[in-house]
Amino acid sequence: MDLFEYQGKELLRKFEVPVPEGRVAQSPEEAADAARFLGGKVVVKAQVQVGGRGKQGGVALVDSPEEAQAAAEKIFAIDFHDQEGFKLKQKADAGSLNAQETEVWEQKQRQAQRASRVLVERASDFTSEYYCSFLLDRTKRRHLAILSAMGGMDIEAVNEEHPEAVVKVGIDPLLAFSDFHARALVFAAKLDTEARKETLQILPKLYRAFVELDASQIEINPLAFTAEGRVIAADAKVVLDDSAAFRHPFFDELKAAHEVPEQEKKAKSLGLNLIKLDGDVGIIGNGAGLVMSTLDVVKDAGGDAANFLDVGGGANAEVLSNALQIITENPAVKSVLINIFGGITRCDLVAEGIIDALGRLDVTVPIVVRLDGTNAEQGRKMLADAPHPMLRSADTMLGAADLAVRLAHGEQS
Ligand code: GDP
Ligand code: MN
Repeated sequence: MDLFEYQGKELLRKFEVPVPEGRVAQSPEEAADAARFLGGKVVVKAQVQVGGRGKQGGVALVDSPEEAQAAAEKIFAIDFHDQEGFKLKQKADAGSLNAQETEVWEQKQRQAQRASRVLVERASDFTSEYYCSFLLDRTKRRHLAILSAMGGMDIEAVNEEHPEAVVKVGIDPLLAFSDFHARALVFAAKLDTEARKETLQILPKLYRAFVELDASQIEINPLAFTAEGRVIAADAKVVLDDSAAFRHPFFDELKAAHEVPEQEKKAKSLGLNLIKLDGDVGIIGNGAGLVMSTLDVVKDAGGDAANFLDVGGGANAEVLSNALQIITENPAVKSVLINIFGGITRCDLVAEGIIDALGRLDVTVPIVVRLDGTNAEQGRKMLADAPHPMLRSADTMLGAADLAVRLAHGEQS
């Protein structure tokens, strides 16, 4: 399990690793409040699981709560990519993608991540940025510690261009990490003289965290040497070993922070715009406005929506089958309401799509369909003639919502 930076830092704090004081914010307003609370210069950081957020605009140094709010607003709108995705994005922006790259880029766009939180931290001036990590060396059956004075940037690039600047020390897990390992690392890495003492104290703490948390990796990049002469973990990538979850009850809690994004991520990889909600009526509609009002009428009918899902203009069989699949995978869903208004989208094609999708999937909850607009009559007739036992049709949006809610509550119709 890959943790978000703020989660990793919270854990490291328990092991007395120095991390900047910070607060998590879920909106630009909360980011402003956090900045006000911390006072002075702060850094606003996207909480997404991709490397190189800085390069993608996900890390902003600001001087005031107003600026923190504006920075957060921008960060929440960024599509973050993994390294390969970001390279392709740069090429795409420059208009220099070849056919094969275009295909991969399209896929990468669907896998893009948005931040649902930012971390607002007290900022400091950095004199130097180091790199430090602890990981498993599986082939040698050892732990491996890595330290470099050339941190902050892409460590793979440093490793290629200046391999001598990346110091690696193997650790026998039975003998554990000792002062001589720490000294070997700090001196060979040629850290600033004034930073050595504190780094020597931090390394054993990181190692203890690595072992006691059952982490498969802890990476601090940058381990920053500040103008005030402190050494701090300015970034943290902590990867926990899922197979150790049984002895760490808090793993589940950490995972819960990922759950919603996980389902939404999956939807996104299928090209669907889904937001998970807490109710039991699954919703599919075309057009954000229509889906929003569908959520409202479900509420009016005494029910609660399980999700927001806009299939946009592409209401064909494949899209509907993906949408139905992802919605019915949620065990909370007791009925599904499909609300389509045909404009350019033709209701007969939508009906065909729904029937086709039901043929591909094993759907065990009732599906209520309301079709209106272009070729609605034809679409409704097709649904009425389809023999699927779970399919119900309704003429109006209110009627459909009412039926879907009653079915979700276990009433027969
Ligand atoms: P990453 O790009 O996802 O690895 O995000 P980081 O947390 O490593 O931040 C990227 C870069 O932003 C760092 O390498 C620093 O150069 C800079 N940065 C982050 N926090 C601070 C801070 O508090 N002060 C200063 N001066 N720079 C910071
Ligand atoms: Mn970093």
